[in-house]
Amino acid sequence: MANAVEIIEVGPRDGLQNQDVTLPVADRVALIGKLIDAGARRIEVASFVNAARVPQMADAEAVIAALAPRKDVTTIGLVLNERGLDRALATSIDEIGVVAIASDSFGLRNQKQTAQQSIDMALTVIRRAREAGRAVNATIGVAFGCPFEGEIDPAKVVEFARTLAEAGPHEIALADTVGVAVPKQVRELIAALRHSIPSVTLRCHFHNTRNQGIANAYAALEEGVTRLDASVGGIGGCPFAPAATGNIGTEDLVYLLERSGFRTGYDLAHLRALAPWLSKKLELPELPAMVSRASTFPPDAT
Ligand code: ZN
Repeated sequence: MANAVEIIEVGPRDGLQNQDVTLPVADRVALIGKLIDAGARRIEVASFVNAARVPQMADAEAVIAALAPRKDVTTIGLVLNERGLDRALATSIDEIGVVAIASDSFGLRNQKQTAQQSIDMALTVIRRAREAGRAVNATIGVAFGCPFEGEIDPAKVVEFARTLAEAGPHEIALADTVGVAVPKQVRELIAALRHSIPSVTLRCHFHNTRNQGIANAYAALEEGVTRLDASVGGIGGCPFAPAATGNIGTEDLVYLLERSGFRTGYDLAHLRALAPWLSKKLELPELPAMVSRASTFPPDAT
């Protein structure tokens, strides 16, 4: 296995968009700054969605404008349609993320698109972003299962990935959007994708709804995936899936990786120090991620 793993911090987007408390722009900017201080170098900072539907993500432009440009940090903005892309391209966001959905039922609820419509939209976004000289990645949502339709045929996910890959995103992510995957399934789907589109760089996005997230992340790593999404404090959820929880916690993933001999670039002590600040801002007594709640280990770790 490789010894460096890139963690993509999605707390400021996937995490915050599912919280009851809507953080003002200044707090979102402060959170991103604190994450950078803790070592985050690739961060989903915003989502260009309708503020009436997702008020937590309002004022994406203001968040991005308030971030000091840094050559060593890549900011990602999520888009679900061309209107979102137009907004994103008018900002200084470094990278566009686009989401295609593997099931009709989830796609219609999440972004008012059938699976096929979401693929077509993603292809257009990838093409236009590349023409505009912007980096672009594509995510396949509910790739491991849908809360409405159940199991998703892996062959369908492979076909979607192959179609997306032809448009030339720099990376394709498999998202367990509502947290149903298990490690064996993760390994099998990644192996199928590697067989079908060996040249594509893969990323994985796991939610912890059924307590499988960190095991799934390690399974992906063992299958050669070295780009993993995580959310500080493990915050997040999904409005369409009962009891869906956040992404795997960044501090939990950093702990797993660093103690297993991988380099992440994160400073765990810095990350841990973020939890009290964030739980206060979100008015949550504690955050889901467990490493920040436990004592340090080894005991003399700063
Ligand atoms: Zn997610």
